Amino acid sequence: MSTTSIDRDRFRERFDEFNQIGATDAGGVNRPALSNANKAARDKLVEWFRTVGLDVRIDEIGNIFGRREGSNPDAEPVMFGSHVDSQYNGGRYDGVVGVLGALEVIETFDDADIETDRPLEIVAWSNEEGVRFQPDMLGSGVYAGVFDLEYAYGRTDDNGNTFREELERIGYRGETPCEADDVHCYLELHVEQGPYLEEAGVSVGVVEDVFGFSWLNVTFEGQANHAGPTPMHMRRDAFAATTDVAAAVREVTATEGADLVGTIGSVEVHPNAINVIPERVEFTVDLRSSDNAVVDTAVDRVREEIEWAADREGLECDCEEIMRVDADQFDEGCRDTIAEAAVDAGYEYTRLSSGAGHDANYLNEIAPTGMIFVPSVDGISHRESEYTEWDDIVAGTEVLFRAVEKRASR
Ligand SMILES: [Zn+2]
Repeated sequence: MSTTSIDRDRFRERFDEFNQIGATDAGGVNRPALSNANKAARDKLVEWFRTVGLDVRIDEIGNIFGRREGSNPDAEPVMFGSHVDSQYNGGRYDGVVGVLGALEVIETFDDADIETDRPLEIVAWSNEEGVRFQPDMLGSGVYAGVFDLEYAYGRTDDNGNTFREELERIGYRGETPCEADDVHCYLELHVEQGPYLEEAGVSVGVVEDVFGFSWLNVTFEGQANHAGPTPMHMRRDAFAATTDVAAAVREVTATEGADLVGTIGSVEVHPNAINVIPERVEFTVDLRSSDNAVVDTAVDRVREEIEWAADREGLECDCEEIMRVDADQFDEGCRDTIAEAAVDAGYEYTRLSSGAGHDANYLNEIAPTGMIFVPSVDGISHRESEYTEWDDIVAGTEVLFRAVEKRASR
């Protein structure tokens, strides 16, 4: 068992300095992918990677890697990291904890003069958040072979700029081919973004699995008419049917599987006027659970409700599943390594599921993968008020250090 510890003050200083980049008045950061602030954050990171002696490479999609050699040059590396792009006016912790935590782990190995057997590679994935360019987790997705590079390059933001143009503009279209290397394992430290660790009163979460989800795009087409003279029985109201579906989503989540969650997050009503019956409504449904069969059943039930609602109201209806991702378990060996690392570091831990997607999901497809969560106060994230106690970040980073040490010396 290692008695080495990270340097919490050095880490804190670096964390605060980093979060001055793109800082907002309300205490968050605004560093969406490939923005000027995201470039400044990347520049700072590359500078720090080089300062601690890492061999830096940038791949074609803008993923940034820093490598510290081990004693065995032929061994597959232990890879760990996260992302530094943010939501628009997002929080200071999401992603940053995992990348700067990784850098702190490297420095801890350096300070203690520990030579690992395997090389260590830390990474900041490109465009994890997917707010400016969809889909999310694009950098890790291309790396893992889930998306092809040309598809990613062609994604556009709201102003019609392509991902490729913006990547070139900020100088981060690197030369390293973006393809999966042989990786011994991938570990990611991240804030939980949910309430469970705080409720459990522990600092460390071993992530067992990730929720699967389905995204539906629904359009109801009825008939616009005057809100006054049109009697109720003559209406074909696209919004009235939408409210039936909204109630059904709540009903389904209450009756199918304990961890099922459902959200109607986007609704566009046309013509959206106070005295006109809604002619057309376009809306989305997001259904998630750690159990794929539960997602299947929920999707079936919601689809049925959509058809019934359209029928009742006399509407044309179109329902398309635009995205389906299966629930997935993380590698058992990695989960156990993280749990052992938590015990070694003297922290209580609990095992939990991740409701949100992370770069680790895609890495899980190409290498044994594990995730460490630290608590999010009030379960809040993707907002400027996102907060995690420094003691908890230190705990998660200590666990990451020990997990990496175990994996890299085996
Ligand atoms: Zn994140």
